[in-house]
Amino acid sequence: MFDYLIVGAGFAGSVLAERLARGSGKKVLLVDRRPHIGGNAFDHYDDAGILVHKYGPHIFHTNSREVFEYLSTFTAWRPYEHRVRASVDGQLVPIPINLDTINRLYGLSLTSMQVEDFFASVAEPRETVRTSEDVVVSRVGRELYEKFFRGYTRKQWGLDPSQLDSMVTARVPVRTNRDDRYFSDTYQAMPLRGYTRMFENMLDHENIKILLNTDYREVVDVIPHDRMIYSGPVDEFFDYRYGKLPYRSLKFEFQTVNQEWVQPVAVLNYPNEHLYTRVTEFKHLTGQEHPKSILVYEYPMAEGDPYYPVPRPENNELYKKYQALAEERSDVHFVGRLATYKYYNMDQVVAQALSVYARIVGQKRAEATRAEAARPSTPAVLAASRKERQHGPVASLSKALAAAGNQSA
Ligand SMILES: Cc1cc2nc3c(=O)[nH]c(=O)nc-3n(C[C@H](O)[C@H](O)[C@H](O)COP(=O)(O)OP(=O)(O)OC[C@H]3O[C@@H](n4cnc5c(N)ncnc54)[C@H](O)[C@@H]3O)c2cc1C
Repeated sequence: MFDYLIVGAGFAGSVLAERLARGSGKKVLLVDRRPHIGGNAFDHYDDAGILVHKYGPHIFHTNSREVFEYLSTFTAWRPYEHRVRASVDGQLVPIPINLDTINRLYGLSLTSMQVEDFFASVAEPRETVRTSEDVVVSRVGRELYEKFFRGYTRKQWGLDPSQLDSMVTARVPVRTNRDDRYFSDTYQAMPLRGYTRMFENMLDHENIKILLNTDYREVVDVIPHDRMIYSGPVDEFFDYRYGKLPYRSLKFEFQTVNQEWVQPVAVLNYPNEHLYTRVTEFKHLTGQEHPKSILVYEYPMAEGDPYYPVPRPENNELYKKYQALAEERSDVHFVGRLATYKYYNMDQVVAQALSVYARIVGQKRAEATRAEAARPSTPAVLAASRKERQHGPVASLSKALAAAGNQSA
């Protein structure tokens, strides 16, 4: 008998598996239909021996000390501040737009004070800021909007910024100084040995069994369990009763090149040229030294894996209907990006999962997450489960049933 069947081995499912097992001694079966743990944050070494992120570049950044300390139990970190350049008018200029972006684009030598005046002179004030277009045009005017945002957003979402919720571009700041970091969070770092290793450490506990390559619907009726945690798409859980929630997808094209470095920074954005939106060179993120390099090109797609919930009012309305169904299921906790149809970063999903755990155990979040309770397994336990890992996680239904104490399978 498992206490919890957890669907999805991404951040949402894995944090809850870890907390329930290590923090509360619960028996957990973690199921994922993909052949690996880590969800969209999964990374692996490719044929050339370079660490790549299978589902596009994942950069960790957070303002939450609690989330950072919690994850630090399972990984050491490599300090990393993310930088992006946009290809505009034949130049590679900093994005988010800053003082250097304006000076280089227009051949000026403005100071910080003067660039604020420049933005004020080109901005088109709006009475109400509802859409993504409103956000940008009201801050930096139409020309910069056209150069940096319109084309990129149209490619990324298949919609004009005037059709998208303001939150899409509200995430991108505009700076009057020369700070060219993409994020300004307090904690910015990459897991030293990669995300997958961090997930392995998180899940390395005798109470956690993992079943990969398995849709939970294949096992939900045959593996005895008390409660469920679900981090898959919420509309799929309810058999699309009210229709499909729209998602934007991506196609990733990886290219190995026979040179040590290709790009000046990790990511180059292409707002106005090519079908792809951006190109990432992974070694900038991971700090790996290697004579070759790997790039990934991202092509936005209408169909494919559900990556980005599309933030439009009618989609939020549709989600609310599913949310109401979810709230009726007191035996299931819906957690994570897909189950709550929210555009969450990794740290936000970790925070959400820690809050759910705190609610389950009836404690304050800080208490339920405290480092002592999150201490990893003793070396002996680690050794034992590493051996188990060589044979793969619980690789079959019969093993999972046996682990659950059900010998009838
Ligand atoms: C291209 C891209 C880039 C991103 N970059 C960043 C970044 O730089 N920084 C950042 O903080 N965040 C980034 N994110 C967001 C980050 O990926 C998410 O916040 C995080 O992965 C969400 O974790 P999750 O557990 O909610 O979902 P997921 O990681 O999607 O995990 C859900 C899991 O559930 C499994 N599943 C679904 N249905 C079933 C089923 N029926 N049966 C069994 N298993 C099922 C799926 O296979 C999946 O593995 C990015 C996302 C994308 C798409």
